[in-house]
Amino acid sequence: MNSRRHAPSGAARRDRAGNEIGLVQRQLQVGNPPKDATCDHCSNTFTIPTATQIRRDEQGWDLPKRCEECRELFRHKPFKTQRETGFWGNTVFRTYNSLGQLLSESRDEVGFWGDERRRHRSATGETTGMTRERTDFWGNEYRETRAPDGTVKSTSRERSDFFGNPYTESAGGTSSTKHKTRSKTSFWGKKYRQTE
Ligand SMILES: [Zn+2]
Repeated sequence: MNSRRHAPSGAARRDRAGNEIGLVQRQLQVGNPPKDATCDHCSNTFTIPTATQIRRDEQGWDLPKRCEECRELFRHKPFKTQRETGFWGNTVFRTYNSLGQLLSESRDEVGFWGDERRRHRSATGETTGMTRERTDFWGNEYRETRAPDGTVKSTSRERSDFFGNPYTESAGGTSSTKHKTRSKTSFWGKKYRQTE
């Protein structure tokens, strides 16, 4: 038997203190209506619900930049980058997640002004970024990846750990955490890069 009492339609339901139930939620919804955003990775449009906006704001986090499907793809670490040969015999670097799903493809190209750069594309072919060599104030070289709109997505530098092993440290991106990429060799002797 369902013994729950229902308020008559039209009248606001109230809690024991007499406050209108759902009022706060409705006010939050007016201030933060569901927002449409374009996925950073696949360019599909996705909706950021009110609850997500409020939670992110409370935590001081940026709004999600990737759609739900892409976030799921990027959830499975470590990533593996392999040098492969493209359809035209050119070199292509393909990055897969730990489930073996293709995350991105990168190709080196020379721009109109002779600048060398590496273009990154999602599995759906969207250009997601362009990496170029940079030199900082101290003369140290680093690489900078910019989104198609020109904003800096991430930077990476060569480092070495306590044991002297080299790795690449990248920072920025959607989570602002630092990632480490190391060269590895598979059981069959094939070289690849692993990002954790
Ligand atoms: Zn997406």
